[in-house]
Amino acid sequence: MADAKIIDGKAFAEGLRSRVAEQVKELKASHHLTPGLAVVLVGQDPASQIYVRSKTKLTEEVGMKSVQHTLPVDTSQKELLTLIDGLNSDPEIHGILVQLPLPKQIDPQAVLGKIDPAKDVDGFHVINAGKLATGAPGLVPCTPLGCLMLIKDVLGKDLSGMQALVIGRSNIVGKPMAQLLLAESCTVTVAHSRTRDLAAEAQRADIIVAAVGVPELVKKDWVKPGATVIDVGMNRVPNPDDPNGKARLCGDVDFEGVKQVAGAITPVPGGVGPMTIACLLQNTVTAACALNDIEVPEV
Ligand code: NAD
Repeated sequence: MADAKIIDGKAFAEGLRSRVAEQVKELKASHHLTPGLAVVLVGQDPASQIYVRSKTKLTEEVGMKSVQHTLPVDTSQKELLTLIDGLNSDPEIHGILVQLPLPKQIDPQAVLGKIDPAKDVDGFHVINAGKLATGAPGLVPCTPLGCLMLIKDVLGKDLSGMQALVIGRSNIVGKPMAQLLLAESCTVTVAHSRTRDLAAEAQRADIIVAAVGVPELVKKDWVKPGATVIDVGMNRVPNPDDPNGKARLCGDVDFEGVKQVAGAITPVPGGVGPMTIACLLQNTVTAACALNDIEVPEV
């Protein structure tokens, strides 16, 4: 059997960002509307700093207004909630993202719950989770939204009746991913750390989305020939081959093995990762349009 098609998430995300840039141009020209995204970072977590820098850069690249608030690590919850209040009522800001994780004195649920659901471009607010679960239009978490776009790019628009396995039940990836696939009329199984026979669940699946955080968990003999495999995992593992001892990035899927049986597979890096920020930008356009009662421009 030929090796799987390697899904180029980087190229797909570039295409999506250029479509977002066209939408922004159109909104400026026809409605004098510049979508604005505010990103809030508390503390100096190095990985978070990298994410925030790249979000800011790509927001500016598509022509949107970008605002970054960097707060000291000892910021109180009250101070952060006050900042969010201000962003909620700022008419030039249409999307608010608070970078997680937050320092331990701050309750992330209180913060996510404070963001106006109409500006919740991460889609983590309970109102948006409820809308997704009940099929109402709302803002959808970026990573699963990006995964669904890649799946449809491979399998076409009609996923109806397909067996889908989501491994992982987090609020930010696993659960919304399962809801999105259910809304596409897939038969969805959600596996997690207590699942008894994960291999058997995987062997039945036409679509596997792995969002676990366990390096190379999904093995070649778990995968049905021809299945579409989406690897959300981002794990840093020791790399004895690197002369400087730099860690290697790998996913939750044994890529080298699984690509020999799957129909299509995302690599790590270069698969799901780039889609997350592209979907964040798309969500900001969606939010800006909804807040101003205008249709999202078709480009
Ligand atoms: P999480 O830790 O919140 O959830 C992990 C889930 O995996 C849990 O539901 C748990 O029950 C399940 N699990 C753990 N061990 C398991 C096992 N052995 N078998 C089956 N299920 C098991 O993680 P998360 O936030 O959902 O992230 C998952 C992975 O995706 C991480 O590697 C994370 O870095 C990555 N991630 C990537 C992006 C991206 O943009 N590419 C975005 C978010 C998360």
